[in-house]
Amino acid sequence: MKKNVRKAIIAGNWKMNKTRPEAKALLTELAPMVADVKDVEVIACVPFTNLETAIEATKGTNIKIGAQNCHFEKSGAFTGEISADMLVEMGVEYVVLGHSERRQYFGETDETVNKRTKAALAAGLKPIVCVGELLWERECDITEEVIARQIKLDFYSLTSEDIKKCVIAYEPVWAIGTGKTATAEQAQEVCAFIRGCLAKQYGEDTAEAVTIQYGGSMNAGNAAELVSKVDVDGGLIGGASLKAPDFTAIVKAAENG
Ligand code: PEP
Repeated sequence: MKKNVRKAIIAGNWKMNKTRPEAKALLTELAPMVADVKDVEVIACVPFTNLETAIEATKGTNIKIGAQNCHFEKSGAFTGEISADMLVEMGVEYVVLGHSERRQYFGETDETVNKRTKAALAAGLKPIVCVGELLWERECDITEEVIARQIKLDFYSLTSEDIKKCVIAYEPVWAIGTGKTATAEQAQEVCAFIRGCLAKQYGEDTAEAVTIQYGGSMNAGNAAELVSKVDVDGGLIGGASLKAPDFTAIVKAAENG
């Protein structure tokens, strides 16, 4: 099996941006621009406060809505947290987990990413799990060790059926929000390595079924080359997802990729 058996996924990670009126305006502008897109899953992962507005604004469109985190417990004394069930009840379909900003600023670890991933799956959400190396780790030539460790720990005890419901976003930390994009060859190399790790653990067929995105300063200018690579099944897009024409150009590049 090859790329053509996997549907490309372009997901916007809005991070901590957009008020509700701004979210509505962006999605209302975006919806007609991507209305004719069939072969790419288009997702907007918005702040918690925008979820209801976003779900309402995208009803009847081909844009799916995701959150940017969820807790691993079902309910209880976890002030400031949101459970996976709460997201599902609202109509949310995807959730970004283990983003490097959460690992860097909010104490997220591979263990909590694993717990969150399992909780998300149990609730019926599709997790977009982020992995990626620091610049220092790449310079020390341990990218593969870092990625292999993250894949092993973040997906610990998941079944083949579970892993097929996950999206993996390869996001080199040095490329996020920096304007420094990995080359298409670097992205392909690590995405293929991730698929190889999955193949060892779950077998070739399962590995070929998993969507692996690239993320890190992907934009309208570089998307086509990145998504043309055989193991790069789309992108997780930060900055460029905040402008409808830019995000649309990336979606169209994935459609042709
Ligand atoms: C991200 O937030 O996941 C991301 C890839 O950001 P940017 O596209 O801005 O680098």
